[in-house]
Amino acid sequence: MSPTSSDDARDQYTFDNPVTRYARVEPPVQHQPEPGVQGPMRPVPDLGEESYRGLGRLIGRRALITGGDSGIGGAVAIAFAREGADVAISYLPDEEADARHVLDLIQAAGRRGVGLPGDITDAAHCRQLVSDAVEQLGGLDILVNNAGKQIAVDRLEDLSDEQFEQTFRTNVFANFWITKAALPHLPAGASVINTASLEAYQPSPERVDYAATKAAINNLSKGLAQQLAPRGIRVNVVAPGPTWTALQVSGGVSDEQMKAFDDESTYQRAGQPAELAPAYVFLASAESSYVSGETLNVNGAMPTP
Ligand code: NAD
Ligand code: MG
Repeated sequence: MSPTSSDDARDQYTFDNPVTRYARVEPPVQHQPEPGVQGPMRPVPDLGEESYRGLGRLIGRRALITGGDSGIGGAVAIAFAREGADVAISYLPDEEADARHVLDLIQAAGRRGVGLPGDITDAAHCRQLVSDAVEQLGGLDILVNNAGKQIAVDRLEDLSDEQFEQTFRTNVFANFWITKAALPHLPAGASVINTASLEAYQPSPERVDYAATKAAINNLSKGLAQQLAPRGIRVNVVAPGPTWTALQVSGGVSDEQMKAFDDESTYQRAGQPAELAPAYVFLASAESSYVSGETLNVNGAMPTP
């Protein structure tokens, strides 16, 4: 046994080859209506259910995570709870089964889990969401804006005005509405973490609306980090690369891209949501006290500016 591992169980600290840590996903082509849910996915994404080991890095903290039912947000919710935080998750009503899975794991970690379904493209709902989270958690110290909409459309002529607007409402406007509503509740020491994408710098030709929202999120976060520094609130970004989630099977990528999903990254395999969670834990915790306005890229060795 290695001196750094307490037992034989694998966790995020296991020393191994990162490239082969997870197998290639090699997904069969599959389609779901928006929003996708994880149960029917093949394979089901790994949220770290069996592997994430908490060390008390967020004891007593209260977090709101949008899109915390599945994928990256679900993995972050499980990790935060195992690090000692109470966690509220937002999601769409159709995602109740995914949300229940994550809420059960938050409770199994001995923390409070709060489910807050609703549509964040509605500003009034965003304000209600924050107020419900604050009320049920008894305050708020961590906000993770993670919910996202991604629908691939090859030609600009086929990109509807409605989709363009909905993508911006989900990815950018809701981020603004939720952060603005949360601010009066965030104490000095609080952390806001937004979710961008590799596409902020490398826009896919068939996702011009989505990629533009991700560039906006990066920029908004770097401006806001400076604005909020005098109040002791940090703002950072995680920019995932290709990660196997429900986003991909509900219109996010074409069939050809799904078949080749593993080949996008230098690692030649897709990332798993469980591999994103530690980046959010680091940025949420006080150990990153001198880190604000930063984008942490988690993408299997794909170059970024
Ligand atoms: P996911 O489908 O598991 O999570 C996205 C979540 O967004 C959904 O679970 C849903 O609850 C929420 N959502 C979408 N529209 C909503 C609405 N109108 N109201 C309320 N909630 C809504 O997929 P994911 O890949 O884990 O996505 C999480 C974030 O990661 C997104 O911002 C996405 O853009 C980003 N990201 C993902 C990848 C990837 O390859 N999967 C790469 C880069 C960035
Ligand atoms: Mg979901």
